[in-house]
Amino acid sequence: MQTKYPFIYIGSDTLEALSSYCSKQKLDCFTLVTDQNIYPRWGEPVQKTLRDLGFNVQSIILEGDPITPDENYLIKILLITNDAPCTYLAVGSGTITDMVRFVADRTQSAFISLPSAPSMDGYASSGSSLTIQGLKQTVIARPPIAIFADLPTLSKAPRDMIAAGFGDVFGKFTALADWAMGNLTIRDPYDPNLAGRVSKRLEQSVKLIDHLEDAWEQNIYALTDALLDVGLCMLEMGNSRPASGSEHSCSHYWEMKLLREGRPAIYHGTKVGIASMLMAERYEWIKKIDIDEVNRRLASTPMPILEDEISTIRNVYGSIADDIIRSQKIYLEMTPEEYHKVQERISSHWPDIQALARSVPSPEEMGRLLHKAGLPVEPEEINLTKEDVKEALYYGHYLRNPFTIIKLLRMLGIDVVTGE
Ligand SMILES: [Zn+2]
Repeated sequence: MQTKYPFIYIGSDTLEALSSYCSKQKLDCFTLVTDQNIYPRWGEPVQKTLRDLGFNVQSIILEGDPITPDENYLIKILLITNDAPCTYLAVGSGTITDMVRFVADRTQSAFISLPSAPSMDGYASSGSSLTIQGLKQTVIARPPIAIFADLPTLSKAPRDMIAAGFGDVFGKFTALADWAMGNLTIRDPYDPNLAGRVSKRLEQSVKLIDHLEDAWEQNIYALTDALLDVGLCMLEMGNSRPASGSEHSCSHYWEMKLLREGRPAIYHGTKVGIASMLMAERYEWIKKIDIDEVNRRLASTPMPILEDEISTIRNVYGSIADDIIRSQKIYLEMTPEEYHKVQERISSHWPDIQALARSVPSPEEMGRLLHKAGLPVEPEEINLTKEDVKEALYYGHYLRNPFTIIKLLRMLGIDVVTGE
């Protein structure tokens, strides 16, 4: 089945393009969802334009700092929404878009995305990144029918949100390596065309970095275009594998922990950038291990004991442990024969795995890219402690089920924190 892509507009005549699209599609009733910060600079102009055309627009302006895409805000949107079948307008960045995507899907409504910042790659995708009862999860909902990315608005987005967009893109180095490795080891479904497309977008974005400030709007256009296209790749794949691997597991772990402990939130792409740096260090370890050592390590590393794994998950994740255990089923229920098969594949594909490791920049290069984009490089710069880093490395991989560099290191008996 061919994936239906949303209509995409990136430019400066956005309100005109939106009006003409809505008229052509005969859409005349809207539920606009935004937050109190974005409303004055982007929500209000959108609302005014559509009302001036005689369209019915109900606006829901969410309040809170931070606004978390959780059950409380989802219920809030549903409670305020009118009964009439309307098209949702998600006017905001990741949080607003993810909530609207979910609500629109579950109320059988269409939605249009009007991004306020080029801060993440999920605008075009169908996955809704939500935090339900403290558990960060991606719920498959629906893609927007259209995306109107207003260049002047995106260019004036807070600088650290734009930097976060680059962080989300640079996370693709490790995400792509993890994805291909998952295909080699546990036969995770893989699409080389989509991987190639994401990789091309990544290369293009890397090229922007050295001249970022020179042609600001032009570069924001290119970044937005790349982020939207990566979202389309996820949409086409039907999951987030083309864009998310071990670095996203770490980022999700931190997001949940910060929320639980009442600590200030950090932009998704900023966390992904820091986590990509950590994973680049771990890919560096792989580059130095020869096949004899791999075979020695595989032979001397026992299969994880089911009871130990479950007890670790219960200790770390408490009330949400059952959901985590369910999501880790493919690993927890692996038979010794299946485990042995994966070990064999690691050994026979070691040259391929090392080639994947070489596709990930060295930590020095990754650090340079992050720094150039205006992102922090060290976890302490965003108040992540050594303990936060350690926990994310040891336990973040339980949050999602793809095979990643972290799962590989565990199978090789290498401590994912110390490398020993
Ligand atoms: Zn991301």
